[in-house]
Amino acid sequence: MSATTPPLSRRLDSLQSSAIRDLLKLTSRADIIGLAGGLPDAELMPRDRIAAAAETALSSRAVLQYTESPGWGPLREVLAARESARTGRPLSIDEIFVTHGSQQALSLLAEVLLDPGALVIVEDPAYVGALQVFRAAGARILAVPLDSEGMRLDILRDLLAKGERPAFVHTVSNFHNPGGVTMSSARRRELAELADAHGFWIIEDDPYGELWFDQPAPAPVATYSPNVIRLSSASKILAPTLRVGWMIAPTKVCRAVELLKQGADLCGSALTHQIAADLLADTDWLTAHIDKVRNIYGERAHALVDAVRTRFGDRITCTEATGGMFLWADFTDGTDTQALLPAALDAGVAYVPGSAFAVSTDYTHSMRLCFTTSEAAILTEAVDRLARAHAAAESQGAVGNQAQL
Ligand code: PMP
Repeated sequence: MSATTPPLSRRLDSLQSSAIRDLLKLTSRADIIGLAGGLPDAELMPRDRIAAAAETALSSRAVLQYTESPGWGPLREVLAARESARTGRPLSIDEIFVTHGSQQALSLLAEVLLDPGALVIVEDPAYVGALQVFRAAGARILAVPLDSEGMRLDILRDLLAKGERPAFVHTVSNFHNPGGVTMSSARRRELAELADAHGFWIIEDDPYGELWFDQPAPAPVATYSPNVIRLSSASKILAPTLRVGWMIAPTKVCRAVELLKQGADLCGSALTHQIAADLLADTDWLTAHIDKVRNIYGERAHALVDAVRTRFGDRITCTEATGGMFLWADFTDGTDTQALLPAALDAGVAYVPGSAFAVSTDYTHSMRLCFTTSEAAILTEAVDRLARAHAAAESQGAVGNQAQL
């Protein structure tokens, strides 16, 4: 008798594998310069300092034990002090919750804040990792486009005026992934006012805020309203392997997340929590370390922007490189970035087509370029290759045309 295969849950129907992960499988060839990846540079991660902190932590057997579900107390103390300084609000450790990277905070928050069919408002283009979580939670998703000052609040206001009532608005307020832009102070204040007036949460997803190049990012949205749940992470300033992210939220949200975290994984790793606490509390060392990463990423970002502007002139517009890890570039000549990709891979350069991040707009002519993992000269070479691929594809009529503009 043949075995009947039992089904998977219906939630899976709404899930797709991330187009970026699929693309990375294609682009991991050694001869390809990767602008697609979106990873911080492992060469700049403080391996020796992490090893020293691990050795100190392991000198006691206590570190081998389970820890508290909201995170190891001394780490939460360090985070409360840092985030109090950042938001200008004195925070108690009951408002700090450590998660397995900020990605886990997104996943737990989706369970805590969303009933089936609840509305979530995201930015367009969107952080794909957040979209995957919200889709899996069965949310109805509406997208608000970005401009150079971040989320278009005039469009959000229109949605609210039409009676749309989001459970929360998700924003990557600083150095957006993938959009490259930072929300202006005025919009942060205004978004907070809208949340207070209409009674929705804001998830301020901020893993990149400390990686500014020319001037620090504006005060967090969380400065302006108690209805903001702020997420940040050690992944981009120390190392993703620690899997240390943190949430700053009202106690009631922290307690709800705690119940779910117990079911998900009982608790985080006392070892990596202690390592993170050691490094984050070592303020002189940390400042020097982050300054180094910021300066190197800044040089790379500027090199990439210069190369794009020199090679493509007015055929591409791209964001100013002000921080974070990404540039967002738009072809103005009708080039379809999905259609251009095979020629780009042949020429030895990879990027992520804008369509991978699209929610409502298709971003056919856009692409995300990551500048963190290659030195300036390699980034310039990458843009030369892209220009060659573009010229070759264009001469074959393979990348779209002016009529599409
Ligand atoms: N939010 C955003 C906007 C991100 O870009 C990322 C990682 N790429 C995350 C959250 C998750 O990071 P982590 O889980 O490593 O903290």
